[in-house]
Amino acid sequence: ELPPTDADFYNLDLKLTKEQRELQMKVRNFMEKEVRPIANDHWNRAKFPFEIIEKFKELDIAGVPYEGYGCPNLPFLMEGIIAQEIARVDVSISTFFGVHSGLAMGSIYLCGSEEQKQEWLPKMQKLDKIGAFGLTEPNVGSGAAGGLETTCKFDGENWVINGQKKWIGNATFADVIIIWARDVESNQVKGFLVRKENPGFKAEKMEDKMALRIVQNALITLTDCKVPESDRLQNANSFKDTANVLRMTRAGVAWQAVGCARGAYESALAYTKKREQFGRPIASYQLVQNHLVEMLSNLTAMQTLVFRLSEMQDQDMLTDEHASLAKVYCSMRTRDVVSRAREVLGGNGILLEHDVARFVADAEAIYSYEGTKEINSLIVGRAITGFSAFVS
Ligand code: FAD
Repeated sequence: ELPPTDADFYNLDLKLTKEQRELQMKVRNFMEKEVRPIANDHWNRAKFPFEIIEKFKELDIAGVPYEGYGCPNLPFLMEGIIAQEIARVDVSISTFFGVHSGLAMGSIYLCGSEEQKQEWLPKMQKLDKIGAFGLTEPNVGSGAAGGLETTCKFDGENWVINGQKKWIGNATFADVIIIWARDVESNQVKGFLVRKENPGFKAEKMEDKMALRIVQNALITLTDCKVPESDRLQNANSFKDTANVLRMTRAGVAWQAVGCARGAYESALAYTKKREQFGRPIASYQLVQNHLVEMLSNLTAMQTLVFRLSEMQDQDMLTDEHASLAKVYCSMRTRDVVSRAREVLGGNGILLEHDVARFVADAEAIYSYEGTKEINSLIVGRAITGFSAFVS
């Protein structure tokens, strides 16, 4: 029997099967052993620990919910549990993993032809090949549905892609980068498997981020980047197909927010029990307990929400608005949790040493990526009112 942690107040982990809890603990132990000791230093130096990719292979957790192609085919719930466990220790590593396993493998799984799946998914599942996902551009973020400036044009032999992509996680070293571009003929969005060796592809590491400093984000420039029809995602015919990928991965980002909050809460609780002022542990003071309880109630509400979210995903009931509501709620509540954690640590809350400062900064990235709070709110708002507040 595996022990529940302090931060699973309603014992949701007990809803998992024995095998599922063993996998959860395997990931937790791995993260504690391999990532916790190096996270602050790598974050500080903005260095990605490439050796972690080799070590991650032993976990066998890439492409968890997918069927076939060597993937584990476990419930979406386990994908969420894994995202939570990774983010509980470090959100950057969870982003590296989420971009590869969720956005990149997910695009191929949902939008690729059988040949494309056969070519990429088994190698990506083993982390022998790494993926990235390029949708956002320097001038186009929230408005990606209708406004992509990156274009593709079929020249009779190849697709020719021109444009730039910004913020693209893993793209500095990924083997395959999913590039979304607007077809100048049909005006529809198409997806491409761009290989890193393609001469028209250039990725430059973005510097000076104040969040997720471990994960590498790139500015990509595509200059007459020629891609054969066989590397066009055969089942991506409009932005609706891109949105299907994002619906799936937004659920994962909600879980990631829960992991970030959980990590900060656990650090704060431990700290307040040890730190003494006025001759007593600060955890014994009412105002500090109030912060801890606010954190725990936020965390528990988020945990129950994402459990249900994944259940709906497993029952094929998940809509865009379900995923967006969870992403909005969890990213807002996580901001509140990490700021209270930072507060009860006093001055030490702004030092990397206790992990909390890193969670505070990283929560800001969760808040903005995979659709900002406003954009996900508008998706829910459209669903509940019937009025679209998006302006195109
Ligand atoms: P903008 O779209 O310029 O928005 C600025 C502000 O205006 C926001 O507050 C927004 O909510 C608000 N706004 C915009 N439109 C409206 C409206 N209609 N109504 C109300 N408010 C509005 N992208 C990828 O493709 N691949 C990646 O791997 C990737 N990784 C990322 C990693 C990090 C760390 C970050 C920060 C971003 C990443 N992104 C990635 C990009 C991310 O998805 C975008 O940052 C996000 O979609 C927001 O776009 P933007 O930053 O251009 O902001």
